[in-house]
Amino acid sequence: MKRLAFFIPFQGCGRRCVYCDQRAITGVSSGMATPEEVRSIAGRQVLPVEICFFGGSFAKIEPGLMERYIEALTLAPEGSRVTFSSYPGDFEGERGALAIETLKKYPIGTIELGIPSLDPAVLRQCNRDDDPEKIKNSIEALRSAGFHIGAQTMIGLPGQTFESAVRDLETIASLMTGTSDASSPGRVNSCALPVKPLALNPNATWDLRIYPCLVLRGTELESLYRSGKYAPLALEEAIRQAGTLLRVASSLGFSAIRVGLLESDSLRRSVVAGPHHPAFGELALSEKLALELAAQDIPWKIGSGKISQLTGHGGRGLRRLAELAGIAPEAARKLLTVR
Ligand code: SF4
Repeated sequence: MKRLAFFIPFQGCGRRCVYCDQRAITGVSSGMATPEEVRSIAGRQVLPVEICFFGGSFAKIEPGLMERYIEALTLAPEGSRVTFSSYPGDFEGERGALAIETLKKYPIGTIELGIPSLDPAVLRQCNRDDDPEKIKNSIEALRSAGFHIGAQTMIGLPGQTFESAVRDLETIASLMTGTSDASSPGRVNSCALPVKPLALNPNATWDLRIYPCLVLRGTELESLYRSGKYAPLALEEAIRQAGTLLRVASSLGFSAIRVGLLESDSLRRSVVAGPHHPAFGELALSEKLALELAAQDIPWKIGSGKISQLTGHGGRGLRRLAELAGIAPEAARKLLTVR
């Protein structure tokens, strides 16, 4: 289904997360589409569309305005739906219940919740609401109401450890399935490989986005970075974390729809420091594949469609596989069997 993306930079946010500059990320430097403009564009479509609102906290904008945006659906072709991102605590309490009642009247595609962390100390350092219970209550409320939920999570945040990022993902998965909290400290060993993949619901698919924390110009994180109070992940470390997280995520029933921010001129211009790479997602996939192969018996069997994940970007995946196996890249290449 064709996607019509509308950016609502910082609308409904209330506070500014230390790492966030939606204008740099989205490239939308001023203004945003009005509900009338969204309706007009939706009304010109001939096939069903997914009308997407990103870059803010959609469920927290003034309720009447939120509904006026959603009502663009009434002019769009039948079968169209609305997808949006929102602050994860937006759906708890009285106001959250009201938002859910409003949303239930319309075809909603995915509600993407920004859940960079569930660790109160990390949330506090990021200038976010530091009560993970609100996030859990929101997920529970959305799940009970039957909405399809997606999660946007992060690595390399101030105060965040990789182990806590893995635990968060496990907890989010358990909340989405409605099972008890599956978090278990110590699940990750020193090689950053999951000791035993979880399989809470192998048939479930929740959309997942993983973003490495970048230092963007003009953010509070830039001040923390320049004063030595924050050190971003190195690129290789971020790739390893993202690849491992991808592996854990697929065992938990997540479908990773994006790893790394969408590359753009405005993003490139804004990055001061951090693990920025235009093909970050591909590099993370190369790490995931190397980890998967290294866990198998030799010869390593690989689908022909995945060879480029090992050989692309200067053979990064193959070198990593060789490193994991403790052999030379040429020797690793000879142990591959293409299916
Ligand atoms: S990260 Fe999300 S909630 Fe935080 S300021 Fe940016 S858009 Fe708003």
